[in-house]
Parts: sequence; structure tokens; C-alpha cells
Amino acid sequence: MTAPRANRPLLNRNLAEFGTTIFAEMSALAARTGAINLGQGFPDTDGPEQVREAAVRALRDGRGNQYPPGPGVPELRTAIAAHQQRHYGLEYDPDQEVLVTAGATEAIAAALLALLEAGDEVIALEPYYDSYAACIAMAGARRVPVTLRPHEGAFRLDLDELRSAVTPRTRLLLLNTPHNPTGTVLSREELSAIAALAVERDLLVVTDEVYEHLVFEGEHLPIAALPGMRERTVTISSAGKTFSFTGWKVGWVTSTQELVTAVRSAKQFLTYVASGPFQYAVAEALRLPDTYFTAFREDLRAKRDLLCTGLADAGVKVFRPAGTYFVTADIRPLGESDGIGFCRSLPKRAGVVAIPNAVFYDDTEAGTPYVRFAFCKRKGVIEAAIERLSNLRK
Ligand code: PMP
Ligand code: GLN
Repeated sequence: MTAPRANRPLLNRNLAEFGTTIFAEMSALAARTGAINLGQGFPDTDGPEQVREAAVRALRDGRGNQYPPGPGVPELRTAIAAHQQRHYGLEYDPDQEVLVTAGATEAIAAALLALLEAGDEVIALEPYYDSYAACIAMAGARRVPVTLRPHEGAFRLDLDELRSAVTPRTRLLLLNTPHNPTGTVLSREELSAIAALAVERDLLVVTDEVYEHLVFEGEHLPIAALPGMRERTVTISSAGKTFSFTGWKVGWVTSTQELVTAVRSAKQFLTYVASGPFQYAVAEALRLPDTYFTAFREDLRAKRDLLCTGLADAGVKVFRPAGTYFVTADIRPLGESDGIGFCRSLPKRAGVVAIPNAVFYDDTEAGTPYVRFAFCKRKGVIEAAIERLSNLRK
């Protein structure tokens, strides 16, 4: 039987360049081969018991089992606003300036679909998280990557390159700090320069800050806190990374009423709402004492150090991340140059799964030798992976 409308590809042409997301591909490879999965970024232990219990309570008490309100349950919106105030001194009105989404993923999609039109240009830091490229494409806009380049052991933004990427068609800067996959944390100086550019060229900024509580060096500074930025910035975060409940898919947007209304216009036709009972639990999580956030960060700092040392001993060049729970390594010291081939063969060669950074680049050559390893795993699992990777040299 011929496919209906065989004269035209089934998949919308905007999506044609995107195959299966690398995270699904690599987790399936790990499951198939039994390799240790340091690919997709999810923790192998769940978040705080108290938060899980709060979800159970909400479920049992019948809170959130039916459609929650479109913008999110008031308890969570209030907790998100309080979180922004407590950690960054940013004031948002929980009723007008906060929107709960199905993870950061939906927040990104809704923001881009709401704010972009066909032909608009979006500047994104390269390597970029894969959903950015897909959502820009779904909006019919064009991505303009600005590549973070290795410099003194970290991937850094070239501010001149950023400036020259702006054209009259640029609508929006899409930022991500702490940055996945490189682990770069944009400094106050860099963010100030980006902010000045956004103001000068009257650009919107969408900033993905899902790793806001995973900064090991320096500090996390939301760009919305800089002068002139609150009114042009859509800030996105989520509970998945901060509280180790990636399956709950509770994310949020904070911005001005005008921007939140725009994002909500798109969001209401994506999921409408999601994660009812979990919203109540995340409200409780956001109010956890500082000791929770510090202990979480320190636990991951120790794991970062463990994995970085292990990778260096295995013979790759390590870019020690200032934030996130990922470390990028350059495989060239092993005599290898193709990260994609390396990751496809790694389960067989060493029983470990990692992510090739090349898939996050338009300039694939710039990303070819880099590979990302996640360290949000139990210590014993990281140690076992290191033991396996040590065979690469032999
Ligand atoms: N942005 C970045 C940079 C990420 O690494 C991830 C993965 N957590 C997301 C967005 C998606 O977040 P969520 O799982 O909350 O949709
Ligand atoms: N954010 C996770 C990562 O970077 C993956 C999330 C997903 O699979 N979409 O690994």
C-alpha cells in the first residue's frame, strides 16, 4: 500500500532535520547493552522523601487530580515567586507574572512559539540543548548559533562574536546558564555585556536556568536581575534538576505580565495543564531550607571531582564544569577524533554510555571531539564507570 499523500514527506519540513533525540537514543543503547548510563541527565536516586510524601498527600487528598488552573496552582505560583525573592531578590506577582508549565521543556516551547514569527532570528549559545533548535524550527524562525569556544579549560562566550551575530531580524537571545552540556556559568561581566546588547538592540531574552542551584564556582546570576532586563526577559526553570524528580515535569516561567500572558497563550494549547498533585509537592520543595540546596550542591561537587579525576586518569582532557551535573571531555588525547563514533562504540568498548556534544552544534566540526558525561549518579556507579573507562587507555 502506498502511503497517503506519498508525493510529500509525512513529517513537517520544519522538523525534518531532527531525528530521535540523542537522549532517547543513548538511554535505549544503555538499556540494550547493560552499559552504565552517564548519558541522559537524570539522577539515579529520587529527591527528598518529604517532597515525595507531599505528592502522595496531595494525590490522596484529591488536590490536583483534576485539571489544575491554567497558570498553575496558587500554592506553587506563590512558592515560585517566594523562591525568586529569597534567592535573587527578584519580585514577581504570583498571580500575573508566574506560569507553571510541563517542565522547562514546555516553557521553552511555549516561549519560542509565542514570541517568534517566521523569519525571525534567534541567537542561541552553541552547543545548544536539543529542544531549542527544534522549537525555533517549529516556530518557523531561524537559529543563529554563537559558539562557546575552549579557552583556559572552559567553554567561553566571545562577546564580539555575539555582538556581530545580531542583525535587524534578531528577535531574541536564548541563553542557558549554567550551560548544558559545557558546564559553563556565565559571569556577571558576561551577563552585563549581554544585557547591554539586548537593551541597545531591543531584544527579548529567554533564559533557561534549570541548573540554577548547581553552581560550584562563582554564583548563579539571573540576567533578569540586571538593569533594564526584567521587562524583556523570560526566565525558565524547573523542579526536575533541583529536586531530582525529572519525571514529574513541573517547570515554570517568571516574567512581566505581558510576556507571561504571551507565553501562556501558546502554553494553553500545548498541554493546557500538567502534573496536578506534583505541583503541590514542588511548592513544598521550593520552601526547603538553605541546608537542602547546599547539601545537594556539595554532594554533586564531590561527584564532579570524582568523575573529573577518573576521566583525566582514563586519558581524556577534562573541562571541569563550573555548574550543571555534566562534564565535557575532549577525546583527542586518546587518539580519537569523532565523538559520535566514540559514543556509539563506548558501550561495547567500555560498558559506558555518554553523549556526543557534536549533536548540539551546527558547526559540527567545532563539536566533533567532545563528549559529555553525567555525574548525577550514585558514587558507586560513578566509580564503576571510571573503572571501566580506565580500560580505554589499554
Ligand atoms: N533545559 C536544559 C538545559 C536541560 O538540561 C533540560 C533537561 N532537564 C531541560 C531544559 C528540560 O527540563 P525539564 O525536564 O524540566 O523539561
Ligand atoms: N536534560 C537532560 C540532558 O541534558 C535530558 C532531558 C531529555 O531527555 N529530554 O541530558
